[in-house]
Amino acid sequence: MNYRNNNLYIENVSAQKIAKKFGTPSYCYSLNKIKSNIRNFKKKFRSIDPLVCFAVKSNSNIQILKEIKKMNIGADVVSKGELLLALKAGINKKKIVFSGVGKNHEEIQLAINKNILLINAESESEIDLIQKIAKIKKKKINIGIRLNPNIDSRSIRKISTGKKDDKFGLTEKNFLKIVKKYKTSKHLNIKCLSVHIGSQITSYKPYEKMLKVIKSVIKKSNHNFDYIDLGGGMGIKYNNDTKIFNYNKYNSIIKKFLIGHKTKIIFEPGRSIVGDAALLLTKVLYIKKANKINFIILDAAMNDFMRPALYGSTHRIVAFKKNKKIIKKRHEFVGPICETTDKFLSIPKFQMLNEKDCLAICDVGAYGMVLSSNYNLRTKPSEILINKSSLKVITKRQKLINII
Ligand SMILES: *Cc1c(COP(=O)(O)O)cnc(C)c1O
Repeated sequence: MNYRNNNLYIENVSAQKIAKKFGTPSYCYSLNKIKSNIRNFKKKFRSIDPLVCFAVKSNSNIQILKEIKKMNIGADVVSKGELLLALKAGINKKKIVFSGVGKNHEEIQLAINKNILLINAESESEIDLIQKIAKIKKKKINIGIRLNPNIDSRSIRKISTGKKDDKFGLTEKNFLKIVKKYKTSKHLNIKCLSVHIGSQITSYKPYEKMLKVIKSVIKKSNHNFDYIDLGGGMGIKYNNDTKIFNYNKYNSIIKKFLIGHKTKIIFEPGRSIVGDAALLLTKVLYIKKANKINFIILDAAMNDFMRPALYGSTHRIVAFKKNKKIIKKRHEFVGPICETTDKFLSIPKFQMLNEKDCLAICDVGAYGMVLSSNYNLRTKPSEILINKSSLKVITKRQKLINII
């Protein structure tokens, strides 16, 4: 995203042109931002040569997955649908890991049939089922076991996944019990220890604690894990208050960890790859001036982009056309949906706005379109991919006729 003569551009295409051509609300991605995020991610961890598996749940547009595949990375999937989509996008099955707390029989069977790299299991009953299916198929299946390291990721509580009261993974005690029980299984190969402590983590410190726990658990288990899957969770800069995640520090503590362990590191980043690579283009329908607040009523709503309503997250909003007239009054950017939480942002001032002006909600590439719905029987938005001066519709706007 950049401004030229006070006009918003995505790569070399003006936001106004995109909105005019494809309408609003529309998700608009920068291909080259996604690519540079991947390049930077790889560069930061070059010295540990990890396997990078993109978390498909953060963005499951197949065109985007195809681009990601071209950069030689794998996929972390959490459902049958995501597994099939990753394969359809051409992602190498030996670079696919299947995570999730409740994989059903059908999903486990598919994962086994497709010979993916790892099924990361999260409960004893699930491991029993994997073993049962493997036995019937006369196969030996590579699995990971997800540890709950009881770490507070100090991120948004609703997206924390690594505390002992969260539903994810196994406690240390159960983890050790299970390793012991299945170590000699004829149908399971315990290849991996996996963790994922949360999302939008901005400090390396929770990861440092996590590595300490992993180290101690490995020692107690007396087992060699070919892979340590550290999950994703690296935070991005949503606004000026967010700290920038220190990749160098994280890299160096992992390097230190690897001195005592011969193992391959897996990462499952989602947000840090696609989060800051998209804008949601929207139009001001009405401006309603109340006593102390200007309500800016947009044509985008919580069904198009759910994060603010779901987690109370804040995303910057910028105008297509910048001007210097600042209105010092509270502005609330809201959608048309009949819910009080259908509100994107509340700020003390904004530039002068008029009805029909267009705005962009920033950093919506991760957990954006994937969380959209038809609530209020609204159609889902379109998705556009920008590559320098070219633009391509990667999802057509849903038609009302298809949902009525
Ligand atoms: C959601 C999730 C990720 C991706 O998290 P980000 O914060 O988007 O990097 C990775 N691994 C697992 C198991 C997940 O559930």
